[in-house]
Amino acid sequence: MAATNNTNWCKSVAFQFAQFSEPTSVSQVQQLVMAAKTRNQQVRVVGSAHSFNQIANTTNGVGLSLIKMTGLASPIDTSTNPPMVSIHAGSTYGDICSLLHEQGFALHNLASLPHVTIAGAVATGTHGSGVGNRNLADSVVAITLVDSDGEVRTLSAREDSEDFKAALVGFGSFGVVTSLTLKLLPTYHICQLVYSPLPLKSIFESQSALLEAMSCAYSVSIFTRFQHDESTTSIWTKRKTSSSPPPTSLLSAPLLSTPLHPIPGLPTDSVTEQLGAPGPWFERLPHFRLVTADGSPGTPSVGDELQTEYFVPLSDAAAAVAAVSSIGPKLAPTLAISELRAIRGDELVMSPARGRDSFALHFTWRYEGGRLREQVWACCKEVERVLSQFSPRPHMGKVHAMSPGDLRRAYGGDDVVRAFVTKQQEIGGPAFRNEFYDAFFVDETDVIEEGMQRLMGC
Ligand SMILES: Cc1cc2nc3c(=O)[nH]c(=O)nc-3n(C[C@H](O)[C@H](O)[C@H](O)COP(=O)(O)OP(=O)(O)OC[C@H]3O[C@@H](n4cnc5c(N)ncnc54)[C@H](O)[C@@H]3O)c2cc1C
Repeated sequence: MAATNNTNWCKSVAFQFAQFSEPTSVSQVQQLVMAAKTRNQQVRVVGSAHSFNQIANTTNGVGLSLIKMTGLASPIDTSTNPPMVSIHAGSTYGDICSLLHEQGFALHNLASLPHVTIAGAVATGTHGSGVGNRNLADSVVAITLVDSDGEVRTLSAREDSEDFKAALVGFGSFGVVTSLTLKLLPTYHICQLVYSPLPLKSIFESQSALLEAMSCAYSVSIFTRFQHDESTTSIWTKRKTSSSPPPTSLLSAPLLSTPLHPIPGLPTDSVTEQLGAPGPWFERLPHFRLVTADGSPGTPSVGDELQTEYFVPLSDAAAAVAAVSSIGPKLAPTLAISELRAIRGDELVMSPARGRDSFALHFTWRYEGGRLREQVWACCKEVERVLSQFSPRPHMGKVHAMSPGDLRRAYGGDDVVRAFVTKQQEIGGPAFRNEFYDAFFVDETDVIEEGMQRLMGC
C-alpha cells in the first residue's frame, strides 16, 4: 500500500501534516528538512503507514514519503563476509526480496506481511518468529540518514556502535533514513505446514513442551483465540527444506491437508502457500502474500482491525499464555485472533527483545470502523493487568494502554531511556520529535487516559 498523507493503513489515525512531500533524492530530503527547520516545523517520514498509532504523525509538521526512493541502492557486495547490499529507504520488503533471491541471496526473517517498508519495520522493532531469529533490524549493518542539521550521516554497527544501537529502533526520531545496508544470507527455501485443531491448554500446560513446539522449525507461530474451541488454535511451521522430515502432529494437533487462514473461516486467497510445497524464503516466511494468486492485491490479515503486542521473557512463555487464557472469555467478543511467536534477544537500546530471548503475544482486534474502539482499549488494559507480572514490553507500532512511566520501566528504566533520549537529542534533535515520542520519552508528567487513547488512535 502506498504511503498516504491522509490516514494510516487501518484508518484509525488521521495524519495532520501541514505539508506532505514525496522527495526523489537525498538532496531534496536535505532541502525539505532545512526548510522545515527554518519554519520551526517537525518532520516525520511515513513508511507504508502500517503502524496502528500516532507514531508516524506530527501535527502541523512536514510529512515525507520516500515512495519515490525505492529499490537497490548498490550492487550486492560479495567481497565482504557476509555479503551486503544497500537499499533506498522507501523500499518495502516486497520491492526488494525477489531481487535479492534472483541473485542468490536472502534475509534472515520477515514479518507476517511483505507490504511494509524496511525502514518503518526496523524503526519499530518489527519481527517475525523463530527461537534463533532476532527481529528484522538484525539484518541492518548501517543506516544513512539526514540529521537535524540537514547533513547526511552514516551510522554503522561496526564504527558507531553506541549511536547505531540507539538509532536503529529509533521510532522515526533520529532523522530521515534515506538508505539501509543489509547483511545477506545465501538464498534458501522454506516449506510451510499447518497443524490444527488442538486444545488451548496444550499450549500452556508445559513450558518445555511449548518451547519444543516453538523450536521445531525455522519459524513457528501459534494462532489462538484463547477459547476452548479447539478449531481456532493452530500451529504454523516454516521449515528449511534441508531440515529433517516434518512431524505428522505437533502438541497433539494433526497436520492439515487443506490451507488455512490465521482466522479460521476467512478465505485463503491472501495467505502464502502451505501444505509443504517448497518455495523461496520471501514467499513462505510471511503469512500473507504481496498479491493473491490471480494477481489482485489481497488484504493481509483482516483490514478493519487494530493490533496490540507484548513481549515477555521466553522463559515465561507458558505462564504468560496461561494468564491470558484466564481472561479468554472477556476478550472473545473483540478478539479476531492472537499470534504467539518467539524472538531471539538482541542489544538494540529500544528493541522490545533487548537483553532477553522473548515471547510475543499479539492480538488482532476487531475494529468495525471505530465502533469497537472502547472495547479494544478495555481489552488492552485487561491483558496488561494479567501480563504485568512478566514485565511486558509493548510493540511501539501497535496499540497499548501502558502509561509512559510503566513503559519506560518496561524498556529498561531511567538509565536506558535517558541514554536513548540523549542520543536522539544529539542526532535527531527537536525537529524529529513528535507528540508520540515526547509523551513516552520526554514529558515528565504522565499522560491522562484520554490523551493515551488519542496517541494510540484508539
Ligand atoms: C497487517 C499488519 C501485519 C503486521 N505484522 C507484523 C508482524 O508480523 N510483526 C511485527 O512486529 N509488526 C507487524 N506489523 C506492524 C508493522 O510492521 C509496523 O507497524 C511497522 O512499523 C510498519 O512499517 P511501515 O513502513 O508501515 O512504518 P510506518 O507505520 O509508516 O512508520 C513507523 C515508524 O517508522 C518511521 N519511519 C518510516 N520510514 C522512515 C524513514 N525512512 N526514516 C525515518 N523514520 C521512518 C515513521 O516515522 C514511524 O515512526 C503489522 C502491521 C499490519 C498492518
